[in-house]
Amino acid sequence: MIDMRLRKKILLSFLSLFVVSSVLTISAVLLATNDSVAEQAQEKLVVGRKVFDQLLEMRANQLFESAEVLTSDFGFKAAVLDKDESTITSVLDNHGARIDADVMMLASLDGRLIASTSNRSQLSAFPFKSLLPLAEENGGVMRTVIFEGSPYQVLILPVRAPITLAWAVVGFEIDDSLASQLKALTSLDVTFVGELNNLSQFELTTLDEQTMASQKIVETQGEWLHMSLNDEPYLALVTQLAATDTYQVDAILSTSLEKAIAKFSPLKLQILFIALVVLILSAFVAFIIARNISRPVNVLVSAAERISRGDYKGTIGFRGYKNNEIGKLANSLTQMQLGISEREDRILFQAYHDTLTGLANRALIKEEVDALIDSPQGSSLVFGLVQVNVRHFKQVNNTFGYHVGDSLLIDVARRLSSHLKQGDLAARLAGDEFLVLLKDGSEEEIRVSVNTLFSELSEPYQIDELNIPIAFVSGVAMYPSHGARTDLLMRRADIALHEANDKKQGLSFYEPGTDEKHIKQTQLVNDLKHAISDGSLVMFYQPKLELKKQKVTQVEALIRWIHPELGFIPPDQFIGLAEQSGLMPPLTRWVLEDVLEQAARWQSQGIDLKVAVNLSAHDLANDDLPDFVSATLESNGLDASVLILEVTESAMIENPDQALRVLNKLRELGIVFAIDDYGTGYSSLSQLKDLPVDELKIDMAFVLKLDENTFDQAIVHSTIKMGHKLGLTIVAEGVENRESWRLLEEWGCDKLQGYYISRPQNAEDFTKWFKGYDLNKEY
Ligand code: C2E
Ligand code: CA
Ligand code: CA
Repeated sequence: MIDMRLRKKILLSFLSLFVVSSVLTISAVLLATNDSVAEQAQEKLVVGRKVFDQLLEMRANQLFESAEVLTSDFGFKAAVLDKDESTITSVLDNHGARIDADVMMLASLDGRLIASTSNRSQLSAFPFKSLLPLAEENGGVMRTVIFEGSPYQVLILPVRAPITLAWAVVGFEIDDSLASQLKALTSLDVTFVGELNNLSQFELTTLDEQTMASQKIVETQGEWLHMSLNDEPYLALVTQLAATDTYQVDAILSTSLEKAIAKFSPLKLQILFIALVVLILSAFVAFIIARNISRPVNVLVSAAERISRGDYKGTIGFRGYKNNEIGKLANSLTQMQLGISEREDRILFQAYHDTLTGLANRALIKEEVDALIDSPQGSSLVFGLVQVNVRHFKQVNNTFGYHVGDSLLIDVARRLSSHLKQGDLAARLAGDEFLVLLKDGSEEEIRVSVNTLFSELSEPYQIDELNIPIAFVSGVAMYPSHGARTDLLMRRADIALHEANDKKQGLSFYEPGTDEKHIKQTQLVNDLKHAISDGSLVMFYQPKLELKKQKVTQVEALIRWIHPELGFIPPDQFIGLAEQSGLMPPLTRWVLEDVLEQAARWQSQGIDLKVAVNLSAHDLANDDLPDFVSATLESNGLDASVLILEVTESAMIENPDQALRVLNKLRELGIVFAIDDYGTGYSSLSQLKDLPVDELKIDMAFVLKLDENTFDQAIVHSTIKMGHKLGLTIVAEGVENRESWRLLEEWGCDKLQGYYISRPQNAEDFTKWFKGYDLNKEY
């Protein structure tokens, strides 16, 4: 399209250039021809006039000679002297006939006509009297005159004997024969025109009458006349033969310009023919040039169009244009295309990849999984989505710096990638979250592969000469058994991961139904907000038996939620939710208020009990807690020593500095701390000596089967010994039988807590129980 337009343009430009120059040349040639025709005509006319002049002069000479013969004739002179008219007349006749004169006359000195041969009319007066003074002065005169309506050439000479006796006149008529003679000599048309007293007298011409009648004078330039005869251009030259006050005689020589120009017609045809041939040739040349220019331009244009459509992969092929501008342009275009394509690839890569690890990003893995599901094999496919998070990544960053954190993520990405097989994909979703697509084999094979991947990941990492043990938590969702859509699978992998986290496991596969449970949890969180204020939360109390005193000196306060629709919800199910949804501060405030009111109530009843309240990690992050605790103690008129706060090790580990700050403030109030669930966390006893802790609660896991399990026995026994060395009071939780009690008592454990003594009960029931418990009774 563009090619055609360009080609047409070039062609048209060439052709119009040529046509214009040809027209100019041809018209210049034609003008020059016309000019030269006019010039030649002029020359011809000028030459013609010379011939004409000579002819007239010749006739004048002839006149003169014959007139001389007449005037010197003695017979004639004698006749004139004698005034012998008849002799004079006959001499004039004879002489006139001999020289072929048209008029012979004799006039007296005073201008009377003596004799005349004119036979046109009977003359009475001498017609040329006006010329006599001139003739007298010059001894004769020769003139062109109008006589009897016709042009004449007349000569007047004196007849002397020796004095002038009379005047003799010899005249020739200027007539057709003279004109024809002239035309024969010069090939010019001759016209004689005479006027007398401004009246046209005659017109003698070699032109035919019809032509003469069509005469139009176009232009007069001095003696030159441009005329048109029968619509043909004529050039004429006017010669004045006679001009007096009364009459005028002109001779007009004329020639047809058309005829002269017509002689050039073959030349014109030749020129036109040559112009035509050159036109065709130049059109052909122009076509070749246009094609040679437009063809590479067209290649460039279609390349540019292709690039603008976003296709950067094609090549711009040229042969024979390597070194010229077009070749260079093509080269630049290729470079530009390469640049764009590289940039686009880079942008595309960045849009779909994580810059730190080079793994795919969330968008890419989603697209890939979508595509996999939508592919024709989608329905028969089995694959697993494995979400892997680095545990305590924030601490790695805080402890070792972001540089080490980044290196760790890169190493994790490397290990993930090295595990992948054809068609698998690893992505970094955010921070320390990774997602792996494994699609090798059956669900069972994938489960095996996930386990291998997980143990490979869990090998220690060597970063900057540091040997860092890193724990991971991972959740897996299987296609198609755990979901048919990518979003759902990703959510379920995440849920499985949280499930693993909650259960303190490393790896967990999605359990059908958990998602629904999670949805229920969202509902629960909403309900929990209201529960804090609407009285559906209740505190239960479980006694701690002090073995040395053989009596219950403390109670642990344990929260209960009686949901209006769902009924009893155990704290394990909603404390975590409260933590995740930011509800912990109001919940803990409620617990403290409720428990301390109860403690005050007991005190007023004379029941001496210390109350233990559980704190979560989120409570230790709350700087307002110490003030709230002290205010609540005060408002209930209680001493700080009545309150024991139970804290897990993991709650302190998450942000140790912050936790210690809050713990120390509370301790300054005089509050006592217990380490809850001891033995399941990370810390060792030696680390505990730096904490403001008074009491250690051995986790139920070691106590529940203490009577049967020798491993548990070893741990519990040694923990009691070590704890005592550190000056800590030891509490055993989960005492469910007499034998465990006996062992614990034997090993010097300070306090016991467990169903064997009492299940947690509401305040009323507990108070009743407290008033009547009997330790020696078999449970
Ligand atoms: P925990 O602090 O370790 O509480 C002891 C848990 O062991 C209680 O479960 C108690 O009912 C149970 N238990 C006591 N003796 C026995 C026994 O002999 N056998 C068995 N199998 N279990 C026994 P509960 O009340 O369901 O509380 C679970 C957890 O919820 C608590 O563990 C604590 O971490 C948390 N919790 C309870 N109330 C509160 C609260 O008011 N605030 C906070 N932050 N956490 C609370
Ligand atoms: Ca506790
Ligand atoms: Ca516990």
